[in-house]
Amino acid sequence: MLFIDPHVHMTSRTTDDYDAMRKAGIVAIIEPAFWLGQARTEAGSFKDYFSSLVGWERFRASQFGIRHYCTIGLNSKEANNEALAEQVMELLPLFASKEGVVGIGEIGYDDQTAAEDKFYRLQIELAKELALPIQIHTPHRDKKKGTSRSMDVCIEHGVDPSMVIVDHNNEETVKEVLDRGFWAAFTIYPRTKMGNERMTEIVRQYGPERIMINSAADWGISDPLAVPKTAALMQERGIPEAHIHQVCYQNALAAFGQSGQMNEDDWLNPITIDQREKFSGSTVLRGGQDPRIDQIDSKIIR
Ligand SMILES: [Zn+2]
Repeated sequence: MLFIDPHVHMTSRTTDDYDAMRKAGIVAIIEPAFWLGQARTEAGSFKDYFSSLVGWERFRASQFGIRHYCTIGLNSKEANNEALAEQVMELLPLFASKEGVVGIGEIGYDDQTAAEDKFYRLQIELAKELALPIQIHTPHRDKKKGTSRSMDVCIEHGVDPSMVIVDHNNEETVKEVLDRGFWAAFTIYPRTKMGNERMTEIVRQYGPERIMINSAADWGISDPLAVPKTAALMQERGIPEAHIHQVCYQNALAAFGQSGQMNEDDWLNPITIDQREKFSGSTVLRGGQDPRIDQIDSKIIR
């Protein structure tokens, strides 16, 4: 089975992760722009980070046979530094229209402050202008209210729910998100509330329409193999294979494919891995390592 992980922060991960992900069947990933654990103090730090999302990280993924896409945005936490946020807003249009950018994200609310609301709304307008999907990070505190509010604001701005992926759902939020016509994404963190056991039950109860699963793996305790592992559990628990394919692959492609930047052909056509390649003079190889040079035909693995 082939998988897409539509929310994973590979900048924080290792080449071993890339290797294991490809072996587990992950063919494409989406890396949302987010918070790096420590607040940035200069607009230039955002600029370089966005550049690496559309440049170096995309290259690094390709060296392991994975297609890398990203969403570009100002995360809700750093929206609270208003002076800096204003400068970041000026950078966003330059990056959001680059190749491989499949949406504006991850944006939304953290503490649900006035500044977060302001920059969330400005970025919704930017997404509308560029006709890009929106990837919403819902708050961990006061989640139910924050999730409803995130959707209310999209509607207020005239965005069609089919262009909005609401992320980090749980049993309390899923019904409203689906009823209102939005995409409902779920993050599977190891040893937490939304483990893969509970995810299996959600898919059983709600079916596969407009639901997608991601790992949101980053610099915290997380698992970049969460999508294939959850798929395996679903299979074990009797969820039909067609439904697993929908929530672990097809829905992410349908939602983010609306950007016009993500096509199945990108990975179904044989991918050549040539680790002799360089990006601005840098390679993933270290002294004396043998480059991997081969071709993966995902149509065969499928
Ligand atoms: Zn994230």
